[in-house]
Amino acid sequence: MTKDSIDARIDRLHADGLVDMHFDLPLDLYEKRSEPGALLSHYSPEFEAGNIGVVGAALYVEDRYLPEMGLRVALDEVARLYSEVDRAKDRFAICKTSDEIKRARQENKIAIVITMEGVEPLGEDLNLLRVFYELGLRMVGLTHARRNAAGSGGIFAASGSSSDGLTAFGRQVVQECERLGIIVDLAHINPRGFEEIVNLTKKPLIVSHTNARKFYDIERNISDEQIKMIGQRGGVVGVNAILVSSSPAESTVDRYVDHIEHVIGLTGIDHVGIGFDFCEYLFQQLPAKVREELAAKLTTPHFIPELTNHSQARNLTRKLIERGLSDQDIEKILRGNWVRILNEWL
Ligand SMILES: [Zn+2]
Repeated sequence: MTKDSIDARIDRLHADGLVDMHFDLPLDLYEKRSEPGALLSHYSPEFEAGNIGVVGAALYVEDRYLPEMGLRVALDEVARLYSEVDRAKDRFAICKTSDEIKRARQENKIAIVITMEGVEPLGEDLNLLRVFYELGLRMVGLTHARRNAAGSGGIFAASGSSSDGLTAFGRQVVQECERLGIIVDLAHINPRGFEEIVNLTKKPLIVSHTNARKFYDIERNISDEQIKMIGQRGGVVGVNAILVSSSPAESTVDRYVDHIEHVIGLTGIDHVGIGFDFCEYLFQQLPAKVREELAAKLTTPHFIPELTNHSQARNLTRKLIERGLSDQDIEKILRGNWVRILNEWL
């Protein structure tokens, strides 16, 4: 195929927009609360260059705010998201239902779905889950890497995370999510907690952003057995772009696609999507000392040079074409599989 025809094919595949179910946007908007407009000035051009159609925007509270400020920071992140979208109403919409997502897309707006990464903002108060639901929360992962009132996260090493599963509160959160219609996200949860959530729920389960342990064997990623469980439940695994390999040299778009093909090999084409977790921009904004602390406590992410922000999404699609995937399969990866989950839950 000539370069022109590949570009035309990418244009066609991107025309209906891509779905990325994990992005730490609210965190950055909160840190920039004294400089409104970042959604339009910084993020909007990148989303548009990559033809992003739906974004999962994750509420996340950094360690330095916990425990006292957890709820307050999360609420402020929601507030910042709404006020930034208010300034760009012709380009963005915060969506609470699949119909709202469809309408936003028909109007050529980027649909933002509010998600939560770690339930620290709830403390141990299940009532607050309902409050966040009213504010638009539609996907919840119980933990980040740390332990909280709901359970324990998988660590960034091959073994050694807590052998405990969910707490009683964690089980209540999962059941209440399913009842309210908040998608249960298995990203980050430790192996024992993962298994418990599978047994506690009935609806399709997802992992918004993760990688296969086959290529990077840490508990934060998921095993072949876990990938198969998600497939059997009709769910989707969103492939993460920052933990594709322990080696910087192997952190490439090719390796990213290896993760996608691995999930397809285990589950078929209907259970893989995108959860880029692009955070190079956020990471570089941190003071050097904080970056070192993060590296010591978690790990150093290895950003993929050709896939570090949404404007580079075409590099992924080009690679999928080069690997010989059909248009129909590429559309499922870029959009269709996530859309099916959003339609089933919201
Ligand atoms: Zn994460």
